[in-house]
Amino acid sequence: MSANLAQLLVRSAHAYPNLPALALGPRVTCSYAQLAGRVARLAAGLAQHLSPNDRVALVMQNCPQYVELLFACWHAGLCAVPVNAKLHPRELEFILANSGARLCFASADLYDAMAPLAESVPCLEEVIDADGPRYAALAAGAPLPMAARAAEDPAWLFYTSGTTGRPKGVTLTQKNIMAAILNYFSDVDAIDPGEAIIHAAPMSHGSGFYMLPHVAHAGLNVVPESGGFDAPEIYALLQAHRGVTLFAAPTMVKRLVDHPADADTANLKTIVYGGGPMYVADCKAAMKRFGYKLAQIYGQGESPMTITAMGKAIHAATDHPRYEQRLASVGQAFTGVEVMVGDADDRPLPAGEIGEILVRGDQIMAGYWDNPAASAETLRNGWLHTGDVGSLDEEGFLTLMDRSKDLIISGGSNIYPREVEEVLLLHPGVSEVSVVGQSHPEWGEVVVAFVVPRGAPPDKADLDALCLDRIARFKRPKAYRYVEALPKNSTGKVLKTELRKLL
Ligand code: AMP
Repeated sequence: MSANLAQLLVRSAHAYPNLPALALGPRVTCSYAQLAGRVARLAAGLAQHLSPNDRVALVMQNCPQYVELLFACWHAGLCAVPVNAKLHPRELEFILANSGARLCFASADLYDAMAPLAESVPCLEEVIDADGPRYAALAAGAPLPMAARAAEDPAWLFYTSGTTGRPKGVTLTQKNIMAAILNYFSDVDAIDPGEAIIHAAPMSHGSGFYMLPHVAHAGLNVVPESGGFDAPEIYALLQAHRGVTLFAAPTMVKRLVDHPADADTANLKTIVYGGGPMYVADCKAAMKRFGYKLAQIYGQGESPMTITAMGKAIHAATDHPRYEQRLASVGQAFTGVEVMVGDADDRPLPAGEIGEILVRGDQIMAGYWDNPAASAETLRNGWLHTGDVGSLDEEGFLTLMDRSKDLIISGGSNIYPREVEEVLLLHPGVSEVSVVGQSHPEWGEVVVAFVVPRGAPPDKADLDALCLDRIARFKRPKAYRYVEALPKNSTGKVLKTELRKLL
């Protein structure tokens, strides 16, 4: 048995050659036999130019070629560098240089912006338009036999979003990714051959990871024609494909729920949400709309999609005495993954106490690419230090607190924005909310709530009353700012730094 991840595709193609593998919108574009054939030929084209372990950057919107290229890289023994296509050209330049990528594939819309980087980035030899004739020619030759890979060989360099400083390349090995795939089956969901996943979230991140268990079980990878998230398009695609899974940031789930549609959702099997906080009120609204089809994951690039999970059954267990607390949590550690809440010396804290979340398991990154100092700091004492803060309950359910930089300290007391946000979202006139600290001469910081109203802005006195009814007086916002939308990054995370700049 080859340790090469590309074997997953070959295996599905042998078992289910005629099942559909890729679709663009409602239209199937190739079967598993065709996809495996194309991948082996494309791998041959890549191997003509590159040597084992060379990096290949993918700066592409979601498209069917994403699947081909990832598997072709692995088939040829190369390391893929999927990059967030929405980054600024200077950030893209940094990532290409830092990863040492020799080739870069760009989708047609990005090609003109990317092509000049072949001149400015020394390691980069060529930028190839993934919709152009050069790409087609690469896949026109004879197929390549699959390269041998070791468990520790780098397979995917995942660049962190770099909200604090330069992005870092998380080195994910063949073994790391295989562990994360197996964890999907153990704790998130089953996948039957012929079922589908719609890639509405970026394939450079979560949706790309979830493409992998779908290939492993001969599922259909559907790329929306818009290349991203569009609520009406998702509802339309649910009429065209069956057994559909969707990986979505909580903000996307909310947009699906808010979309006025009486569309049939019988073909929707699972929404896996994660990547940011899901508020209890929003989670309940989603279950009301879709039924108990929700599963949650908590992960980060350094432990891809795999720290804790909360499956559909927990979401459906509404009569559990701690149902509300469970919904507000991120679930329990994945099978075979160890999660600890540690003190400053990495010693386990008792249940209920708040500390940094530490993780161990086969899915944890090998380290940061070409950055031994950051690797040593993050992986010290054998644990991944997530930088996230939270607490475990007696039953191993983990509740995340806000990141320490988002914590508000007012008059010496800690205020977790999430707690205030959960309360404000109970008001029917509040669609979205984000709470940040504003510096204040007397209190250090005061709480300010940015509110996206649903319809007419709610009365501030009503919001105040809601807070006074449920949380300590000092936690209630001193000011409410009504905004049309909250600033978010391409993976749907609210950018609190942008909000703080507005103050
Ligand atoms: P990234 O590496 O870009 O995927 O971002 C990972 C970060 O997103 C984590 O460290 C958490 O802070 C946050 N995150 C991921 N999943 C969840 C979740 N289910 N609930 C709340 N925050 C999450």
